[in-house]
Amino acid sequence: MPVPVSQMWTVASYVLRQKFAGRKQYPLVLMLEPLFRCNLACAGCGKIQYPAHILKKDLTPEECFRAVEECGAPMVSIPGGEPLMHPQIGEIIEGLVARKKYIYLCTNALLLKEKIDLFKPSKYLTFSVHLDGQREEHDLAVCREGGYDIAVDAVKEALRRGFRVTTNTTLFDGANPKSVRAFFDEMMELGVEGMMLSPGYSYDKAPDQKHFLGRARTRRMFRAILSNRKKNWQFNLSPLFLEFLMGKRTYPCTPWGMPTYNIFGWQKPCYLLQDGYAETFAELLATTEWSKYGTESGNPACANCMVHSGYEASAVNATFSSLGGFLATVKGTLFPAYRDEEALRMLEEPQAAVHPLVQIAPTAQAESLQETGA
Ligand code: SF4
Repeated sequence: MPVPVSQMWTVASYVLRQKFAGRKQYPLVLMLEPLFRCNLACAGCGKIQYPAHILKKDLTPEECFRAVEECGAPMVSIPGGEPLMHPQIGEIIEGLVARKKYIYLCTNALLLKEKIDLFKPSKYLTFSVHLDGQREEHDLAVCREGGYDIAVDAVKEALRRGFRVTTNTTLFDGANPKSVRAFFDEMMELGVEGMMLSPGYSYDKAPDQKHFLGRARTRRMFRAILSNRKKNWQFNLSPLFLEFLMGKRTYPCTPWGMPTYNIFGWQKPCYLLQDGYAETFAELLATTEWSKYGTESGNPACANCMVHSGYEASAVNATFSSLGGFLATVKGTLFPAYRDEEALRMLEEPQAAVHPLVQIAPTAQAESLQETGA
């Protein structure tokens, strides 16, 4: 099942309106983080290391609605933390659906079956289930044995009930391209609508700093994974962003395209870095020194970054900036095979062994947060 035409039309007409209005910096997707606490402790996460008094805080539904209205983006992605741990997540989603926002509720799905009755199927709501590869790879990435099976079970239940479901995959150094391609087969067989991908980013706060990718390695890995695509693979991403990951295109980062709002306010400049906060979206746009960010800026924090939240809005903007960009998008949509003999050879290269699973035991703090529901 592809992305509904109504969503494509909403997004395309929104971007064209921004272009006609001459707006150079416009938001495409609001990254709304209603909480930071989580029921996993993934080695690559930069959110769960906050102290307990921060992890206990939630955005209220009213704060979420105010941010969504201030920003005006047609799509809202709800990461976290684990949004299903928010005590009013049902109310938040209902309010956003009423505002006709296309919502991607990003979840590790551990609580999805338990909480699914809080939601009604809608073309506006998609569960974006975090799965970082096949069983072994995913369980390793989220440091939780059995995490893959629980998530897949929840995906089946959500699909059975008529919800839109996509997957959301972060790939780190050492990901095995062959296994990632087999994972795509598994997800398509499950019946998900599409797959989202991003390379990992080295968060200062993340406990595992060893397994992040440099730009050249990122491009090589995605070239191996995304060339010679199978016909049934569906990606919930701009074709030009996928070409960017494969090293076929370069774009500047446009962090205002996916601004982040959380309990601290509007985060400068992006989802990953924290160089201060603004009280309003207008203040974020006006007071962030945007020239200090992006790969070309020379900022070491941006040097290796190719993440979805920095560059997919750039790719979408390129689609609507020239006839060439539009035609390239049409071509990437209609003819996504990307035949590449060298990429086929790369798939046969020896891969490093998968590291044994290290299960991170929940800390006393995390356990108490879960028990209290705080
Ligand atoms: S390059 Fe990456 S880290 Fe730097 S501003 Fe853009 S998204 Fe943020």
